[in-house]
Order: sequence, then structure tokens, then C-alpha cells
Amino acid sequence: MPSRISKKEQVNSHVTESIIHLLDEETVSHIAAGEVVERPASVVKELVENAIDAGALRIRIAVKSDGSAVRQITVTDDGCGMSPEDATTAFRQHATSKIRQADDLFAITTLGFRGEALASIAAVSEITLTTRRAEDIAGTRVTLSGGMITDSSESGAPPGTTIEIQSLFFNTPARRKFLRTVSTELAHIFDHVERIALAHPGIAFHLLHQDKEKFHTSGRGDILETIQDLFGAERARNLIRLDPVQGHIPVSGYVAYPLPGQRSRRSLYISVNGRQIVSQPLIRAIREGFGVSLQKGEYPFAVLDVRIDSNELDVNVHPTKREVRFSSERQVTDSVRESVKRAILQTDGLFPAAPAQVKSSASSVSGRQTETEYPVSRVSEGAATYGRTDRQLRQTGITSIPALSPSSEGDPSLPTILGQLYGTYILAESDIGDLLIIDQHAAHEKIVYEALQKKKEDLIESQQLLIPVTVRLSRRDGAIIHDAARDLGLAGFAIEDFGGDTWAIRAVPAGWKKLDDPDEIRSLLQEIIDGIQGPATDRQSRICTTIACRTAIKGNTLLSREQMERLVGQLYSLHPPYTCPHGRPAIIRYSKIDLEHLFRRR
Ligand code: ADP
Ligand code: MG
Repeated sequence: MPSRISKKEQVNSHVTESIIHLLDEETVSHIAAGEVVERPASVVKELVENAIDAGALRIRIAVKSDGSAVRQITVTDDGCGMSPEDATTAFRQHATSKIRQADDLFAITTLGFRGEALASIAAVSEITLTTRRAEDIAGTRVTLSGGMITDSSESGAPPGTTIEIQSLFFNTPARRKFLRTVSTELAHIFDHVERIALAHPGIAFHLLHQDKEKFHTSGRGDILETIQDLFGAERARNLIRLDPVQGHIPVSGYVAYPLPGQRSRRSLYISVNGRQIVSQPLIRAIREGFGVSLQKGEYPFAVLDVRIDSNELDVNVHPTKREVRFSSERQVTDSVRESVKRAILQTDGLFPAAPAQVKSSASSVSGRQTETEYPVSRVSEGAATYGRTDRQLRQTGITSIPALSPSSEGDPSLPTILGQLYGTYILAESDIGDLLIIDQHAAHEKIVYEALQKKKEDLIESQQLLIPVTVRLSRRDGAIIHDAARDLGLAGFAIEDFGGDTWAIRAVPAGWKKLDDPDEIRSLLQEIIDGIQGPATDRQSRICTTIACRTAIKGNTLLSREQMERLVGQLYSLHPPYTCPHGRPAIIRYSKIDLEHLFRRR
């Protein structure tokens, strides 16, 4: 009896020795053929995809280069590892553990499936593979050169797999010639890893170049955190979350209005079932979701993942698997457009107004107009409120901008002010004849924020208080103030520890409109304290956001034409996008064509 059991175990353990097999010719004939390894970044991509397929939770990519080329690529994962047999079989053409037959091609759930990558990489480089399955006592080490196994032996190793590639393209001088400069090849590698990391927030990626860390992601499964890990707090601050929309394919992720100078579609990170893809129809759908708020040639920022049944998706279209085909592309693009549009609408009820949708939002605006007593377009110089507004504008140096009369021959690219609506929006005509609706609060907030960020002392002055305002702070809040003293100082605050739990505010950012009201000052400080908890990295920007929001002119404030001109002039001296620090737009733009659509002239 016992011997039978042990025999069975032996059989079982033998069966599990090898999971990789060679695909039959029939299956191979259905596979989209082509070059897999075009450049160092393709090697990185394939190795990282293998690590993900192996169930890794941590993946480390180390790249070394010299003045002329990428010399070494090492990818280490803590995935399932390989048996000694598989460690050598893996390098054969069409050797894979991921599909068995041609039918499997219609429902692929792994990133790889063709069994070609390792064979193709091995053919043009020198490789050392070290691997161990968690259940094995010893690991395996295999070395290859130009596709031939030169050594295979038992080796100590942690569970998981490390593949080290050297001398890439050493035997293919023609391919080597097509490579770009080292910095371009490195940029491609970094970009690929970023894209893969964004599609897999649950995996911790570490990328090193010359042994120095370029970036890492936490792998805690939070896309927002991953975006912050990769692009910094500034980028993560202005994001708009996508939520699934009923009746549509689930789309998750974040979008944001373009950052200054963002005119490339490389800011779009699109994945389907965790696979980074290139898709013109989806790019178009994202832009359409933003509606008329995007300017020509502008691309928003987007990290989004579409979840779809694997049998609705054909990934066997392109040799490097970058392009995919959907059985119902229309459904996918509709879902993406709709999620983006809804997410943006939620950030501001009026925005964006894609021509077809304008009707409803425009009528709701006019409906509101009759119900409320917004002051409408009355510009009377000398009103008492203007004095205070002027002080607020001065704080950002707006007054130092030469005033333009509406028809003066000032900077021709500056919009011409048409008037003010509800005391809240500035209406203007752009230099190319677009109708601009500018939210004066969002615009001013953006201006103050940028000025604070740039720490232009000449713009943001500190205003000494005649009588210091004292506040009592909890130990925790006191510690926060203490830690953030430098950032608060840069923003125009002077705060002193008075002993006990009392603090004295001696100076505040200049222009703060209720300078003389201690309660206002205290509440601003408290808001800042509440806003700056968390990582120290973006503390300064969070302080600036709070100050900007609190000190900017509010809606429902009458502005003189001159004040509007200064405000808009100042806004235009910043870089686009004209989005307030909370990610709300400051400008909505209707082109002449948009209006013609609305009035059915077209
Ligand atoms: P594919 O990924 O298309 O199957 P590859 O040539 O990339 O083909 O890899 C061949 C096989 O080697 C995979 O199917 C997998 O079984 C094994 N393999 C490759 N990389 C790893 C890894 N990092 N961890 C575990 N197994 C791996
Ligand atoms: Mg693979």
C-alpha cells in the first residue's frame, strides 16, 4: 500500500516537472508572425510580461548602458519559477505553458502565448537564466549564447526567476544599426515599464539604471498611488476618476486635462485586461469624452483599463501584441467615451459641452439665470467692491500688467473681453474667434497657485500683521506646522511657537482679503494643516492649493472691465491648461463651428 502511494506521488511530481510544451504546427500556423525583438525595450517588455504571467508581485528591472548602447538587461521576479526541464525548454521556438491548441487563441488570459519571446531573445544575445520554484530545494541556472545552451546546472536561487541579457544583437549587426542613441533606447525602456506598471498597480515594479533607482511603484493595487509613484504628486492632484457606467463595459482609471505643452498621445496609457495597447479608436473615444474642452492637437492625460471577456478580444493580431481587435469595437469605444464624459461632467456641471450635448446644459443655465439674482453684466466703475477685488488681483501682480483697452493694439493673442455674466464668468472672444467663458474664481485661483508655486517673492508678498494672531493647536497640528515651517514661509506665512500649545501668526500671504480677521486667518491655517497631512513630497503644492482657493476672487463679484482684462491677461501669461488647482477648468471654449452646430447652421 505505502509503496503504491509513493509511486503515485512520483508520477504526480513527474507530471508537474514540465508545464512547457511545443505548440503543434496547426496552432503555430494561426499565430501572427513577425519580429518580436526590435530593440532593447522589446526585450524588457517580453521579460516583464513573462514575470507577470508567472504571478510575480515584485518585479525588478535593472538596465546598464555605456556611451553607445544598452549593455545589460536583468529582470528579476518572485513568480512561480521553472522546473529544471522547463528552464531549458523555455528557450525553444513555440515553447509555451500558456496555450495548448489553436482554439485557446480565442480566449487568452495571459500576456504571452506564442512561446516565441525567449527563443527570439536568446537567438540574438547572451543569456543567463536562474530560476527556482518555491517547492524545489535547488534552482537551475542555464546560460545561452546566440540561441545555443552553453551550460545548465543546479544553482542556489531564491524562488522566482532572474533573466540577465547581455550583448544584445551581438550577432545581428544590421539590427544593431537601426538602434537609436542610448538615451532614446533607455527612454523607450522606461516608457514601457511605466505603461506596464500602470496597467498592473498590484505589482511592485522597481526600475534601476546603472544601479540607481529610476522609479518604483508600491504595488498596493491603487492606480492613483501608482500614478503618483511614477509621475509625482502634481500629476496625481488634478485627476478625475473614471467609474463604471451602467450598461457599459467597465472602464476604470483616471483622466486629466493636458499639462502645459502636452501635445502628444504618449500621455495616454490604455490597457485592456491589463495589456497595454495602442488603439486609435480608443484614443479618439477619450478625446471625444473631453468634448470641446480640448484644443486642437491637445491630448489629455489618461490611465485607463478596459475589462472585457477574453473571448471578446483578439490579441493575436500584431507580432508584439500591441494592437488588439475587439469583437465589438463600437461597444468598447462607446463605453470609454461615456465613462470619460461622465467623469468630467461630474467635476463641473457645465463642462464639457460637446456640441450634441450642449442643448441640455445650455438650457439649464438659462433656467438658472431667471431664478437667481446674479448681477448680469453690469460694469460700473468705482463700485466699492472693486477696491477689494483690486487688492486681491494685486496680490498676484495682475495690476502690474499694463491695462489694455478693449480695442487697443496690445498683444493680439489676448482675448477681447465681451462682458461679465452672473458676476461669475468673464465672456471673451479669443484671437481666433472662439467664444471663451472664463470662470473668474478658477482662473484667479490658478494664477495665485502658479505664483505661489513659483515662489516669486515679488508676486506673493508677506504681509506683517499689526497684532499677531494667536492660535492654539493640538500637539499633532503643532508638529505639522513645525515640519512644514519652510513651505509655509515660502507661501508668505510667519508662524512662531509661543510655547505650550500656542502659536503666533505674525505674517500672512499678502492680499489675503480678510487680513484683519483673526478667525479667517485661523481657519485658513487650520485648512492648510488639514490639507498637508500625508507624504511630505507634495506638501508645498497642497499648501498653495489651499491658499489659492481661499484668497482668489470669488464668483458673484462684479469686476470692472480693466480688472477682467488684467485677470485674463495674467491667466494667458501662464501655461495652458487653464485648469484650476482642483482640476476644474477655468475656461470653456466654443469655436465658431461649435456655435454653428448648436444653432443648426451646419
Ligand atoms: P510565452 O510567454 O509566449 O509563453 P516565452 O518565450 O516568453 O513564451 O516564454 C516561454 C515559457 O517560459 C513561458 O510559457 C513560461 O512557461 C516560461 N517562462 C518564461 N519566463 C518565465 C518567468 N519569468 N517565470 C516563470 N516561467 C517563465
Ligand atoms: Mg512571453
